[in-house]
Amino acid sequence: MRILLTNDDGIHGHGLKVLAKVARQFGEVKIVAPDRERSCCSHAMTLRDPLRVNPVDFDGLEAYEVNGLPVDCVNVGLTVAYPNGCDYVLSGINHGPNLGFDITYSGTVAGAMEGAINGIHSIAFSLATFVYEAPPHWESAEKWISENLKTLMCFEVPELTFLNVNIPSIDPTELRGAKIAEMGRRVYKDRVEKRDDPWGRPYYWQGGSVVMTADQPGTDVEAVSNGFVSVTPLSLNWTVAKVANEIATASNWPISF
Ligand code: MN
Repeated sequence: MRILLTNDDGIHGHGLKVLAKVARQFGEVKIVAPDRERSCCSHAMTLRDPLRVNPVDFDGLEAYEVNGLPVDCVNVGLTVAYPNGCDYVLSGINHGPNLGFDITYSGTVAGAMEGAINGIHSIAFSLATFVYEAPPHWESAEKWISENLKTLMCFEVPELTFLNVNIPSIDPTELRGAKIAEMGRRVYKDRVEKRDDPWGRPYYWQGGSVVMTADQPGTDVEAVSNGFVSVTPLSLNWTVAKVANEIATASNWPISF
């Protein structure tokens, strides 16, 4: 099994080390990751600047750091590390959750998405920490992925489909198992904060606090809030067939699929 690893926390991210440690039990692992943290870059790619690819020491594994984004790393990986293709793209383990709408902002998820676009079985992993200062329970992610990666890898995902996995950052003894969950709703309030610089000029800092209630039955948000690992299959086919039918009915335009 040829496994390509990437992330958005950068080549020095601890989650990448954990994922490499686990993944190498299942096959050949090569790593291509951003040279610095690139969280929240979504599916962006670098087009107007050269990508520099430097081999780095990574616990004996073939690894490269790239001055680019997770999508760049997957594509560089398929050129430099695995020119003949690979069987899996694993992205993460992200330090922080990728639940609900986080998926749309996440560089970690975008890494897996780019793998899926290339026709590769791809999985994004995130450690769902909610309190910034709290020590992350990487050992829970390591244990759960070690025990379950084979299942996730053996499963045949359809074309344009990939998996998003969130592991609650709690003690391994508190983990209650896993649930297949739907993408939930996770929104932020007070998104943009106005502040003043030392000269009294206003500037704005985007962040905000999360408004997330666990009262979302069947979702990734609910599963993780209740101590379960969430496994969410995502599709790159964004077409909404139901609405297509409604527009067709209202307009008399034919549906071409
Ligand atoms: Mn990140």
